[in-house]
Amino acid sequence: MNANEPDDLIACHECDALIQKPALPQRTSAKCPRCGSLLYRSISSNLDKISAMTLAALVTFVIAQAFPIVELNANGLTSQTTLIGAIVALWGEQMEIMAVLVFCSTILFPLCELLALLYVLLPLRAGYVPPGLNAVLRGIQLMRPWGMIEVFMLGVLVTLVKMVSIARVIPEAALFAFGVLTLMLAVVVSFDPRALWDLAGRLGPRQSKRLTTDARQKS
Ligand SMILES: [Zn+2]
Repeated sequence: MNANEPDDLIACHECDALIQKPALPQRTSAKCPRCGSLLYRSISSNLDKISAMTLAALVTFVIAQAFPIVELNANGLTSQTTLIGAIVALWGEQMEIMAVLVFCSTILFPLCELLALLYVLLPLRAGYVPPGLNAVLRGIQLMRPWGMIEVFMLGVLVTLVKMVSIARVIPEAALFAFGVLTLMLAVVVSFDPRALWDLAGRLGPRQSKRLTTDARQKS
C-alpha cells in the first residue's frame, strides 16, 4: 500500500507530528513516537464495550422515564407521575419555555443520541456500513454539547417544582435510574466517533482500494 495516501496518516494532537497509521491488534493503543501522547486505541474491543454500554443506557433511559419521579399535590389530592407528567405540570403552571428546555435536555437529546449511536454501532459491529453514516455521525457530534446538560436541567426541574410547591421528588427507581444513566452517558460520550469513521473507511472504500492495488501489482 502506498504510504503517502492521506488516509494512512494521522497527525499527533500534541506536537503535530505526521505519522503513518498502523493497524492495531486488539486491546492495544498507538502512541506518538515524538512526544509519547496517545494517538488512538484499537476499536475492535472498544466497539463491543461501547455498543453494550449504549444498549444498557437505553434500557436505563426507559426505566428512568417509565417510573414515577415526582409526587404532585393538587387540591389535597396527591398523585405520582413520571418525568413527562412533571413536564406537563410545568407547562400547566405557565412555564412553557422551561417545560420545553427540560423536555429537550432530559428526553429528546439523550434519546436521539442513543438511538443514533446504536444505528451506527450495530451495523458496524456486524461488518457493514449503514446508509447515511456520515450524516448520522455529524449529527451525533452536533448533539454532544447538549447531551451533558441533562443533570443541570433535572436540577432546575426539581428546584422549580419545589418553588411552586406543587410536587415533591420521590427518591425511588426513576431517580436512581437517572443517576446511573448520567454516568452511562458520560462513558458513551467519552467515546470518540472518529474511530467509527476509520472503521467505516476500512469496511467500505478501502476494500475497493485494496483490490485496485492488488490489480496494479499483478500487471
Ligand atoms: Zn506527538
